[in-house]
Amino acid sequence: MAIAIDLQRIIESDHDHLIHPLFHPSDQKEPFVWVQGNGAVLRSADGREFIDGLSCLWNVNIGHGRKELAQAAARQMEQLAFASGYTGSTTLPAVQLGEKLASLTHPSIGHFFFTSGGGESNDSAIKTVRFYWNSLGKPAKTKIIAREHAYHGVTVAAMSATGIPAYWEMFGGKLPGFIHIPSPYPYRFVQEEKAVSQGVAAANLLEKAILAEGPETVAAFIAEPVQGAGGLMVPQDDYFAKIREICDKYDVLFIADEVITGFGRTGRWFALEHYGVQPDIVSFAKGITSGYIPLGGIGISDRIYKVIADAPPAKRWMHAFTYSGHPTACAVALANLEVIEREGLVAEAERKGRKLLAGLQQLSGLDHVGDVRGLGFMAGVELVEDKATKKAFAPNLKIGERVHQECVRRGVFSRFRGDIYMYAPPFVATDQQIDRMVNVLAEAIPEAIKQVVK
Ligand code: PMP
Repeated sequence: MAIAIDLQRIIESDHDHLIHPLFHPSDQKEPFVWVQGNGAVLRSADGREFIDGLSCLWNVNIGHGRKELAQAAARQMEQLAFASGYTGSTTLPAVQLGEKLASLTHPSIGHFFFTSGGGESNDSAIKTVRFYWNSLGKPAKTKIIAREHAYHGVTVAAMSATGIPAYWEMFGGKLPGFIHIPSPYPYRFVQEEKAVSQGVAAANLLEKAILAEGPETVAAFIAEPVQGAGGLMVPQDDYFAKIREICDKYDVLFIADEVITGFGRTGRWFALEHYGVQPDIVSFAKGITSGYIPLGGIGISDRIYKVIADAPPAKRWMHAFTYSGHPTACAVALANLEVIEREGLVAEAERKGRKLLAGLQQLSGLDHVGDVRGLGFMAGVELVEDKATKKAFAPNLKIGERVHQECVRRGVFSRFRGDIYMYAPPFVATDQQIDRMVNVLAEAIPEAIKQVVK
């Protein structure tokens, strides 16, 4: 049912007053005006319904329309709208959430600082590793090594760690001291070191970069366990164990950016669990509240916490946000985590992810489907001009965007990066909805390609 609003006026007013993320007016001419959500379905103001193929922005993990999260927010707002979370104060929801997270995150992680999103979390992690080394008398250890195709957010430090140049090129470039190594990206990894597995060869590029920069200048390595926004790259099984070994060897801290992968997305509470590896810092956001309210944070190891705790007061960890530990956000996070536990949604994400990936793998035989990959309930399909050589389509053909448009026409709304089409549905997506997502893509790919390949 269409909502009774003057859609044209809303869109004109949007054009008059709003600037959107990754903004260009040419992409805002006919925006979707989203008005409602239920489970894994989104509705736009003109009455159309879409399967939410990406949990909106990889975040609405428990699905839309959960009244108990709204009620948790209302209860907290009625009780206490806000109070300072600065040192010397605390609030009940923040304390409860810290306790809960200590039980859910990697055993190495026991201390939490809250932010309002993923970019702030990664900036917090980057500042914390610099503080750590500075406090230990190694102020030169400031550099951050990240990977190509990484997405860590767009605050200035997170932007600089992001490995997609378009995010920094028009903003004065990345900050000095941010270095990018190739992604392990199994489909396209160019392996020069032949005597080892591909995963170890990819990890060894970190060692090479640390040695090139000088270990005494490198503070940390930051990585998403599964690269998300950059094109959904799942690493080789042995990659992260080798990464951990290299970080330990050279006194480089390891920041796991679990902003997408945290809280069940990959069928584990945190994705690094798949690889038996623990980070020194974990960044999180998105799924901690399933997007019902902004909240993010970092969890840090006892070792890093001890350095913060032992610093002289005048040389304290001078980092803060007004909304760190916002009581309403923490109350909503607690309600969200309770839903995930009660409904067994981490196991559901694993089961449904297997179903989705198996379905998508059946598309491998289609012309131009170069690679199908995924872990848990996130998957990507990479389209190429030539399957034998993996030659990409010319970017101006906009194959990924065409596939997206064809999916939209068929009632599925998700996201693409270049010619990689990605799915990460809410954990409550039904088996029928998963089948539909696969079938729609099976139609959309040949249709999109037909438009450009004669
Ligand atoms: N890290 C990762 C892995 C992300 O996917 C994102 C957002 N897509 C961010 C950080 C940034 O989060 P935010 O947009 O909340 O700042």
